[in-house]
Amino acid sequence: MSEFRLYNTLTRRVEPFTPADGRTVRLYACGPTVYNPAHLGNFRTFLFEDLMRRAMRLYGWEVMQVMNLTDVDDKIIRKAAANAQTITQVTEPFTELFHRDRRYLRIEDAEVYPKATEHIPEMIALVQTLVDNGTAYVSEDGSVYFAIDRFAGYGRLSQLDKREIKSGARVAQDEYSKENAQDFALWKSAKPEDEATGAAWDSPWGRGRPGWHLECSAMAMKYLGETLDLHAGGIDLIFPHHEDEIAQSEAATGKPFARCWCHGEFLLTDGAKMAKRVGNVATVVDLREQGIDGAVYRHFVFNAHYRKQLNLLGDSLAQSQAAVRRIGTFARRLAEATGGTPALAAAAQRAESAFKAALFDDLNAPEALAALFTFISEANRELDAGGTDGAALTEAQRVFAVIDGVLDLVPAETETDAELSTWVEERLAARKAARAARDFAEADSIRAELVARGVTIEDTASGTKWRAG
Ligand code: AMP
Ligand code: ZN
Repeated sequence: MSEFRLYNTLTRRVEPFTPADGRTVRLYACGPTVYNPAHLGNFRTFLFEDLMRRAMRLYGWEVMQVMNLTDVDDKIIRKAAANAQTITQVTEPFTELFHRDRRYLRIEDAEVYPKATEHIPEMIALVQTLVDNGTAYVSEDGSVYFAIDRFAGYGRLSQLDKREIKSGARVAQDEYSKENAQDFALWKSAKPEDEATGAAWDSPWGRGRPGWHLECSAMAMKYLGETLDLHAGGIDLIFPHHEDEIAQSEAATGKPFARCWCHGEFLLTDGAKMAKRVGNVATVVDLREQGIDGAVYRHFVFNAHYRKQLNLLGDSLAQSQAAVRRIGTFARRLAEATGGTPALAAAAQRAESAFKAALFDDLNAPEALAALFTFISEANRELDAGGTDGAALTEAQRVFAVIDGVLDLVPAETETDAELSTWVEERLAARKAARAARDFAEADSIRAELVARGVTIEDTASGTKWRAG
């Protein structure tokens, strides 16, 4: 089998990827901050990670994926304080919503979803290591900062050395306790607002709370070991978040933190990054309310390469809706067929290799989708020919299952589809009985009823066929 290749942000190249132990990919993906509903931009990134884990399993590896839930940070504390709540009261409902939305989009469960607030001791231990080895320092107010000029590798991931990185720049007024304006907080001393919202813990440096970057380093290393195979996230996390994760982790362990870094590009709406701040967000709840199947959004996302920006426009989802409908119709046809032709098996095998070649080459989902649609056209033609080759049909069904096991694009039959179909079948049986009894007036009136509900019927030698719309 061809090698599995991924674009590694560390080297800015597409490279062969393989887990260190040859078996299990230890993958860390930065998760949501659970203080409001995740938007479709966030879910573009989570879908890219879902595609990644499914592709890796198809390749033959196991996946151990950790996705953190950020349940303590400035925004959460601000919201809790404004509502006179604790941070847990703020984050609990949004954590539940995140999982509900994720399931709606058929995003597989990660193996672990650790919460920051449940890993405070691990984070304190990491900070202590850094203080002890001199890469971190305690400021007068009991906050702890990481000294970026004491870690030689700082800036490598984001190629910051090529930008302006001013070591020893004049400190800004609100950062009076830092030695260097670029230093970042590992631990923040508690303010009254933190105490009031349950966002303060005891530490060797007094009451305080963890900085954002710290949680990912501590939880990634706890569940995946000191060197991960792969770390993923959206492109905006490269700097400072991932740069800081590398600095903290590597300064503590002396080992590479992640062997490969992968970043997904943004989802835009009408040309602007989808972001809460911009006020242009759409959510999974919006999709659900409009009766748009999760498969539709999956198709829309996979139809662009993860390293290209993707623009959500007014009619984008309608196109994806038509595409998944076609896939659903094909899935049903393939399941109900009774035989195929040798050419059907050949088309299936071509589709399988084209699909895998595309997917394993830096997750080229648009090409993988093209392989699926070529297969659908070719297979439909062969099924029209009405062959009787059972093994050929089985092969086509197997390949379709392989492909859909990764893309997961067959739309669910909706309640109304199921209800309609039950009603139509009942009416067709009544019409058949009326015709058998030569009651043609009744038969015609039933046909009119069906037409009135948008159902087209066709009497063929093998019985009456129908379709909606
Ligand atoms: P947050 O909850 O803001 O920490 O974001 C969770 C994930 O969504 C991160 O991996 C971000 O990089 C990603 N993300 C945020 N906005 C977008 C966007 N417009 N398109 C794609 N990914 C995004
Ligand atoms: Zn992170």
